[in-house]
Amino acid sequence: MKEDIPHNLEVINARIRKACEKAGRNTDEVRLLLATKTVSAERIKTALENGQTLIAENKVQELKEKYEDLKDTPHENHFIGHLQTNKIKDILKYDVVCVQSIDRLDLAEKLHQRLLQEGKTIDVLIQVNTSNEESKFGVHPDQAVELTKKVSEFSTIKIKGLMTIGLFSAETEKVRSCFKILKNLQQEIIRLNIPNVKMNELSMGMSEDLETAIEEGSTIVRVGTAVFGARVYTDSYYWDEGKS
Ligand SMILES: *Cc1c(COP(=O)(O)O)cnc(C)c1O
Repeated sequence: MKEDIPHNLEVINARIRKACEKAGRNTDEVRLLLATKTVSAERIKTALENGQTLIAENKVQELKEKYEDLKDTPHENHFIGHLQTNKIKDILKYDVVCVQSIDRLDLAEKLHQRLLQEGKTIDVLIQVNTSNEESKFGVHPDQAVELTKKVSEFSTIKIKGLMTIGLFSAETEKVRSCFKILKNLQQEIIRLNIPNVKMNELSMGMSEDLETAIEEGSTIVRVGTAVFGARVYTDSYYWDEGKS
């Protein structure tokens, strides 16, 4: 229900505060990103009017459908879904400022070409598949450094950090190991000191596992269900190869 959104936001923000306290971090080191797949523009607006500023879609089609309704309410748009190269121009048209799901070179290359044409730049995160589940998108951890190096050569693309979807498991330590992989990669890339690469952002943690992610250094937690309620579609609709 729409009336629940302000309350749910309070609960989530309290969880973030508490997790930061426990980890000895400042609350302002962690941003809340609202994952808005399947959520109507009206309900997203309710969240924006209740202090939220950062939202993200998984599908270009949904971004497009909600754009008009949301454009006069101040917010920042990221993209967190699997991006097909033929949708790149829409990402730019609908004011996405950060693509968190860069996971292959040809996508970055085509994005760069389009950005050059339009005389723009964009922020990105490199998405890493830390859970070793074949169904999930993201570059394999062993190839993440190499991909980061190659993408860094595109002058229009500003790498800001890494993103991952942790393993779905009730076993916290297994989930934690995914977040540790991302953190270790971040540290490795920082040591390499690659030109045109910043590694300030670690986008990890969702409704179920944000506390663990914050303990492991997350700077962006992506939350959908805990704010907007359960979705009708299963997540495989958004995450599986071949279903996009
Ligand atoms: C849906 C989604 C989320 C949020 O998941 P919840 O479990 O609903 O909090 C986070 N990240 C990505 C990439 C998503 O697709």
